[in-house]
Amino acid sequence: MIAIEKNKSIKKYTTFGVPVLAKYFTQFSDLKELKSVLSDKKLMEEELLILGGGSNLLFTKNFEGLVLKNNIKGISIEEENDSEVLIRSGAGENWHEFVMYCVDNDFAGVENLSLIPGNVGASPMQNIGAYGVEIKDVFHSLEAIEIKTGKLRVFDKEECNFGYRESVFKNSQKNEFIITSVVFKLYKTPTFNVSYGAIGSELKKMKVENITIKAISDAVINIRQRKLPDPKKIGNAGSFFKNPVISAEQFEDLKLRFPQMSYYKLPSGEMKIAAGWLIDYLGWKGTRKGDYGVHKNQALVLVNYGESEGKDIYDLSSLIMKSVLKNFQITLEREVNIF
Ligand code: FAD
Ligand code: NAP
Repeated sequence: MIAIEKNKSIKKYTTFGVPVLAKYFTQFSDLKELKSVLSDKKLMEEELLILGGGSNLLFTKNFEGLVLKNNIKGISIEEENDSEVLIRSGAGENWHEFVMYCVDNDFAGVENLSLIPGNVGASPMQNIGAYGVEIKDVFHSLEAIEIKTGKLRVFDKEECNFGYRESVFKNSQKNEFIITSVVFKLYKTPTFNVSYGAIGSELKKMKVENITIKAISDAVINIRQRKLPDPKKIGNAGSFFKNPVISAEQFEDLKLRFPQMSYYKLPSGEMKIAAGWLIDYLGWKGTRKGDYGVHKNQALVLVNYGESEGKDIYDLSSLIMKSVLKNFQITLEREVNIF
């Protein structure tokens, strides 16, 4: 039997660090422990929240259910040949430590995703992405336990239906599966992805002549450390909003009114607008109300400087969304999971 804690503060398990109590809380480190929790019929009547590193959620109130923290560890090579390697990682491994394992072993593919907080098990949830790479680019398959039946199921890439910060686990299969391990397909002969402007200029600054997996990882780490608040010092969950995608028609109209707007054309012909630019243009960047606000270097990141409540941060996000809608006729979508 694994211990179930009651009315447990889970503030320290989240990077926003707002006060929150979980009615029930427990952790599991292997499939046996997980199955033992799932077989408790009474407990399974509660609302369930699977917790990884807590870096993509905001609690606006206490959680009146069971918080189940996934600590399944282990990294192993499943298969390899001269050019490729399939690596399985337990869902409870820290994402950045997994990336460092790949970099140290010269396995290419995830170096652009260095220093993203959180655990491996959550990486498919929103198809994490940064600097021109998403995990769908290196994803092979995952194993997950179906909550209702306790049965193990394997998902291949197609079944995950990855999109921009989206997957089947945030949509049609929401709250139905607990991801227990993920298999990535990485490369021994790398194709470097340095198309993202900031990486190229950082490599120049670092005076790198021969690009390596390690050099790209170091460049990304440098940029991120300069630009983003470290959750250990200032509470945050990264980008609070997704970048909106609008039609070419709406874009043409907006571009006439806001010629400086930051945007990128997508292969579909639609336009991705940098949400950070919209928020910054409206003067939100660096605003502070009490202990919460919008980060001074990055308008997409809402922050908790100390003792704020999740509800205050949520209300601030609603004000920002209202002002973006009013001024640009664009509806922002929250990227952070709200509870
Ligand atoms: P959690 O916050 O614990 O959980 C997120 C969601 O996934 C919740 O709904 C949870 O229930 C669910 N979940 C977690 N684990 C499992 C599991 N094993 N099975 C089923 N469901 C599960 N994201 C990016 O995409 N790109 C970035 O560049 C990026 N940069 C960031 C920078 C900072 C400073 C911060 C704080 C966050 C950033 N993020 C970024 C967001 C976040 O780090 C990622 O979304 C990360 O994958 C969340 O992992 P986690 O383990 O913390 O998930
Ligand atoms: P940035 O480099 O200032 O760029 C602003 C936005 O423009 C980004 O959101 C990015 O979209 C887009 N962009 C920039 N160059 C692009 C290119 N060459 N092609 C297509 N789109 C481009 O962004 P930043 O805020 O410093 O973040 C850097 C990277 O880390 C981004 O990829 C961002 O998504 C990621 N990041 C994510 C989070 C999170 O919590 N989700 C937090 C911090 C950083 P994309 O976001 O689509 O890449």
